[in-house]
Amino acid sequence: MAAKNEYKFFEAVEKSFDKATPFTSWDPGILEQIKQCNAVYRMFFPVKIGDKIEVIKAYRVQHSHHKTPCKGGIRFSLSVNLDEVMALAALMTYKCAIVNVPFGGAKGGIAIDPKKYSAYDLEKITRRYTSELIKKNFIGPGTDVPAPDYGTGEREMSWILDTYMSMRPGEIDALGCVTGKPITQGGVRGRREATGLGVYFGVREVCMMQDVMDRLGLQTGVEGKRVVVQGLGNVGYHVAKFFREGGARVIALAEFEGAIMNPDGLNEEEVFQHRRKTGSILNFPGAVNIEKSTDALELDCDILIPAALENVIDGENAPRIKAKIIGEAANGPLTPDADEVFIRKGVLVIPDMYLNAGGVTVSYFEWLKNLSHVRYGRLEKRFTENLNSHILGQLEELTEKKVRSNERDFIMHGPDEADLVNSGLEETMISATHEIMNCWKGNPDIPDMRTAAYVVAINKVGTSYAELGIFP
Ligand code: GLU
Repeated sequence: MAAKNEYKFFEAVEKSFDKATPFTSWDPGILEQIKQCNAVYRMFFPVKIGDKIEVIKAYRVQHSHHKTPCKGGIRFSLSVNLDEVMALAALMTYKCAIVNVPFGGAKGGIAIDPKKYSAYDLEKITRRYTSELIKKNFIGPGTDVPAPDYGTGEREMSWILDTYMSMRPGEIDALGCVTGKPITQGGVRGRREATGLGVYFGVREVCMMQDVMDRLGLQTGVEGKRVVVQGLGNVGYHVAKFFREGGARVIALAEFEGAIMNPDGLNEEEVFQHRRKTGSILNFPGAVNIEKSTDALELDCDILIPAALENVIDGENAPRIKAKIIGEAANGPLTPDADEVFIRKGVLVIPDMYLNAGGVTVSYFEWLKNLSHVRYGRLEKRFTENLNSHILGQLEELTEKKVRSNERDFIMHGPDEADLVNSGLEETMISATHEIMNCWKGNPDIPDMRTAAYVVAINKVGTSYAELGIFP
């Protein structure tokens, strides 16, 4: 029998999908095909932990094969269940479509609390999970490419890569079987901060739209805006960092154990170090403690960024949220009931499947790097610098004027890997913002930005199926 809530999150994704379909003109059969999870793999495997054998439950779901490989993270969390993995896999399909990353959506998860295991045991679990995926052809640079998600990071990705390479010796593109790897193992510069930076680029672009800000009663630009971030993991940390660097004030940060607030702004790195030292975000010098973490979501602010887990804002607490903009850095932090409340209140919700797509966008760049077997910038950096230097020399000679030294450095600089990855990400997020906003503006009956994002995604996936000749 299905456990309580077993199908809740996937249902929420289906509900948002169904809200968008009246604004598309696809055949109902095509819409049904887009919506379904194409392949679901649930596995149990034994791992010896200490002197006991533990049976580990894990999943990999491939939501769509309209483009291959499939792509999506692997989550380690006790709350991992089939419904959650299916929902997250579906979101990956729509996310990739929105940012023109040519992959189908997938997601994986292992139902464990990673904090309860030593690194040695986690390695055994990760390696065994990978070999289960290999056995069923659920991993590979051309079939399905995992990445980090909640509870996993570069370390786990390198275990996955090593297991894959040892079982597939001589496979020339093996490095592309997983992304989010350490740089030394085929990773790409900029992947670690990519989701947070993408969130920042997306919100910044929306904040630059005069008509949107007028409707919300806000000034244009990110500068001076009061931001609350829930979650200080990799995504939340980088979101807070980029907003602070962009001139916003991060007035509160929330974690499981509670939240802290300082109207003058918090520095995420100092808070991170404090939490590492004391084991808690609370009692940070100069900040006020908020004992109940979820109360931070209800603080008076301009921008609220949930950057932790799904379903944190529902029909119950949504009416108490005071933010004017909610940027979904996490996957699925708002329920469909919360969406309805925000439509009524005129709050702008910037949806997850577009806003947090920075991670998978840079994963795509990493995969391309792995397939091309060459670091970004290696071929053109020096050439560009020589060319720039030559042009500058000619200009100075002709005008008999000298360029200031900081300008000189900027003009001469040839792009390295981080420059190319970050500008590729910026371009991707900016074009996706305009594509969704244009769709929304083009149809005033579309109730919110999430629905507009779904319309854009459905049209792209539908078109791919048509191009494949599956639906003449
Ligand atoms: N886990 C991330 C997400 O939910 C990244 C996925 C990827 O890079 O494939 O978007």
